[in-house]
Amino acid sequence: RAKLESLRAATPIPINTAAAVEVARLEGELKAGINSGQMQLYVQPIVDMRSHQIIGFESLVRWMHPITGLVRPDFFIPLAERSGLIVPLGRWVLREACHAALRFDREQNHAKMAGKSGFISVNVSAGQFHDPEFIPELASILRETKLNPERLQLEITESILSDTSAAKRWIAGCKKLGVRIALDDFGTGYSSLSYLHEFDIDTLKIDQSFVRRILEDKRSEKIIITIIQLSQALGLEIVAEGIETQPMFDRLAALGCHYGQGYLIARPSPIDAYFAAR
Ligand code: C2E
Ligand code: CA
Ligand code: CA
Ligand code: CA
Repeated sequence: RAKLESLRAATPIPINTAAAVEVARLEGELKAGINSGQMQLYVQPIVDMRSHQIIGFESLVRWMHPITGLVRPDFFIPLAERSGLIVPLGRWVLREACHAALRFDREQNHAKMAGKSGFISVNVSAGQFHDPEFIPELASILRETKLNPERLQLEITESILSDTSAAKRWIAGCKKLGVRIALDDFGTGYSSLSYLHEFDIDTLKIDQSFVRRILEDKRSEKIIITIIQLSQALGLEIVAEGIETQPMFDRLAALGCHYGQGYLIARPSPIDAYFAAR
């Protein structure tokens, strides 16, 4: 019997070959897509909730597949993460986003923006965080584009911070270059409060799951109130994302939320959409 058990333990878990082949095929397509210009940078504005002026944009990548059409990041970002393709993809997004910020200046679009120049916020995945070339690449992209680093914000999630010492070094490296750090999907992770104490964060982005329920659910509203108070106490900027209706917007503004983002204000769109009308 013991022999049978050990034999069973040694038998590899059968791989679903069809699924593995499919994943490999998709990875190949994604790689080809990254290399052949199928990726597109979309941007979604972030506004000052009092003045309604655009203060910056979040960049959100899209994959224009030649046959399937537009593929959502929720599908291909995990694929990119698993395959390591997130590194070249993330690098492309970062460079593209910096160029987009400069284009907003060139086209004098900041007439619509508060202050002189808006910022661009870029999502950074765990795979990029662990890439030793990330910080040197970031430095060279900034050098190359001459974008004022204060106008670049990197969005990370709490999961990245669990490796405390690596995260501290990483954030310090980014800060040294002058870029800002936002904590995305705030409230969905585990030790949010200790993280805030420990890391040099500039902005909190309240997760959509709380924003979505703000009007119906007292608990979600209380969580948002607490996050806003916390951000005020710690001198952090705060962005509510996923604002879909006017009543949601009004409630968040009344609670003292600085900045907002969501379909009510604008859906993500190609950056050209911001220039096409003029
Ligand atoms: P995220 O960073 O939390 O981005 C916000 C998501 O919410 C975006 O989805 C955006 O289109 C969507 N959204 C904005 N306003 C509203 C609203 O009012 N209602 C609703 N229901 N949704 C709203 P998207 O563009 O599909 O991206 C999904 C996720 O994919 C992002 O979540 C982010 O985690 C990841 N992602 C997107 N672009 C990149 C990228 O360039 N790099 C990396 N690493 N991840 C990315
Ligand atoms: Ca984000
Ligand atoms: Ca988010
Ligand atoms: Ca998310």
